[in-house]
Amino acid sequence: MNKICSALAIFALIALACCNNQSRDTLYPNEFPLKDVVLLEGPFRDARDLNIVTLLKYDVDRLLAPFLKEAGLPAKASSYPNWEGLDGHVGGHYLSAMAMNYAATGNAECKRRMDYMISELRACQDANGTNYPDWGEGYAGGMPNSKVIWSTLQKGDFKAYRSAWVPWYNVHKIYAGLRDAWSYAGSENARIIFLKFCDWGTGITSALTDVQMESMLNAEHGGINEIFADAYQMTGDEKYLTAAKRFSHRMLLDAMSAGIDNLDNKHANTQIPKAAGFQRIAELSHDKKYFEAARFFWETVTENRSLAFGGNSRREHFPDSASCIDFVNEIQGPESCNTYNMLRLTEHLFRTDPSARYADYYEGALYNHILSTRHPEHGGYVYFTPARPRHYRVYSAPNEAMWCCVGTGMENHGKYNQFIYTHINDSLYLNLFIASELDWKEKGVKIRQETKFPNEEQTSLMITKGSSRFSIMVRYPSWVMEGALKIMVNGKPISFVNQPSSYIALTRRWKKGDVVQVYLPMHTSIEQMPNVPDYIAFLHGPVLLGAKTGTEDLKGLIADDSRWGQFAAGEKLPVDEAPVIIGDDKSKAADALMPVKDKPLTFTAPALKLINPAEIVFEPFFSIHDTRYMIYWRIVTEEQLKSGAGLLN
Ligand SMILES: [Zn+2]
Repeated sequence: MNKICSALAIFALIALACCNNQSRDTLYPNEFPLKDVVLLEGPFRDARDLNIVTLLKYDVDRLLAPFLKEAGLPAKASSYPNWEGLDGHVGGHYLSAMAMNYAATGNAECKRRMDYMISELRACQDANGTNYPDWGEGYAGGMPNSKVIWSTLQKGDFKAYRSAWVPWYNVHKIYAGLRDAWSYAGSENARIIFLKFCDWGTGITSALTDVQMESMLNAEHGGINEIFADAYQMTGDEKYLTAAKRFSHRMLLDAMSAGIDNLDNKHANTQIPKAAGFQRIAELSHDKKYFEAARFFWETVTENRSLAFGGNSRREHFPDSASCIDFVNEIQGPESCNTYNMLRLTEHLFRTDPSARYADYYEGALYNHILSTRHPEHGGYVYFTPARPRHYRVYSAPNEAMWCCVGTGMENHGKYNQFIYTHINDSLYLNLFIASELDWKEKGVKIRQETKFPNEEQTSLMITKGSSRFSIMVRYPSWVMEGALKIMVNGKPISFVNQPSSYIALTRRWKKGDVVQVYLPMHTSIEQMPNVPDYIAFLHGPVLLGAKTGTEDLKGLIADDSRWGQFAAGEKLPVDEAPVIIGDDKSKAADALMPVKDKPLTFTAPALKLINPAEIVFEPFFSIHDTRYMIYWRIVTEEQLKSGAGLLN
């Protein structure tokens, strides 16, 4: 069977399994409620806790101001001035973040703020219906100039819509916030507002032709198709499935479902959420075209268009293959929002096809991009992560920078416990090696995972409560060599024939006191930059290694409310003066890295031959902040060096 056939077969099987237990009570039946997966000590819990502190610095009334204004209600505070024109978008992300963090930790202030936002949004929705009966019934958005944009759009006049800054993208965020307040935190009020708002969305576009819909969807619109798919799952009402398909951009759907990569020069974060929506539609309607589109999109982005930390895009767009050298030269490296959305797509795909390749990507992107995009002390968020040698990143200041990546950043660190474990029927998938405790209520068992991974090469699971028969599906990561993974159950080795990037099923009646130990030997490897093979990155296990290169001219390191503050605008140090590795065999470059005693994941490489020599200390990129750095290194052969080519760019 070829790859496509086999993926389709799996899809059909799982679609059948999911069909029976498709629930209206939960959107993601393979995931555990966040409160049932408690993070234990480690970098992810630290990031989550710091993020809550950061989130509580924001002023909720200021976040809500655009919604009140558009509904014709008196202001309680002034709107944030930064990213004016997109007012309201961060409010939606903030509502999602409050819901997730309340669900994960029980934090009472997050709950209070979530409930307050929902009651204010309810008031806005009611006022829109009263004040604007011709177009506003059910509307709960904060899009500036809402009245003109939506009242004309419903008549097929897109002039105001096109001159505004991405209206559907903007309102998608508050749709998602309301959905999340219900889905993660169980708010019935949020559910009511959400569904009324969905009815507004179907109503306002009901007179548009398919051609007009396609034209409208040329503008960035977030995951609006996913929203309607969610509404379909919540209610079982086919009208929402019809809407989800109507809001699916044919330009992308048709190409991707036919296996055609048409992403060159397209805005990356405009496309990724569409694909997440395709997969939700496929999951719920078993429509193969949508599944093929989502699967192919994921494959082409992760295999052909992603850097070693899981991010994609330069200047926010997917480069064509000849332009991938821009990754080296450009200060606008991959955008954090893209990876937020790629993880979302990955979670969705994994639900219908729990293949280890999805979890392999998820893990790398989580450690190397997502975890790295929050500042470990002040909690600011990152927009661009340049791969340009010896450049740097800037971080947002709370209440000032209001970029898209501030919005997704607010959410990123609240759901680290979402994908550690998933389950289908009697199978528990161990996807991530993150210290945590799972309360699997359905089975009456508790499982504690203790690990300092990736600082140690092992993890252990202990059943701490209950007894039940099920399979623990242990992920054999792609970065552990063939034959190197070891598993012990209660001290006895388990034999298996699995290859890397698969799951090993351990099936038995598990009982309190049982222990599973997994040994995960890591090695150092290289990864080439897409389409620029003479630039390589070093990874140890799944962890991207970087090196600090100096702190000169970190202009705008903490970005304020200036419109372009997200750019790291300090001096661009010449690329050709950065260290270049001389080596005839790229694949052996990783052999030069020597571990530093008592410093996990830290290496020196005294044997590396370099042009522009420097003392290099490799360490996890996710711990590198407030400095210039290198994550990609040019490598030239002796021959190239002799001919002078090694010094050119
Ligand atoms: Zn962004």
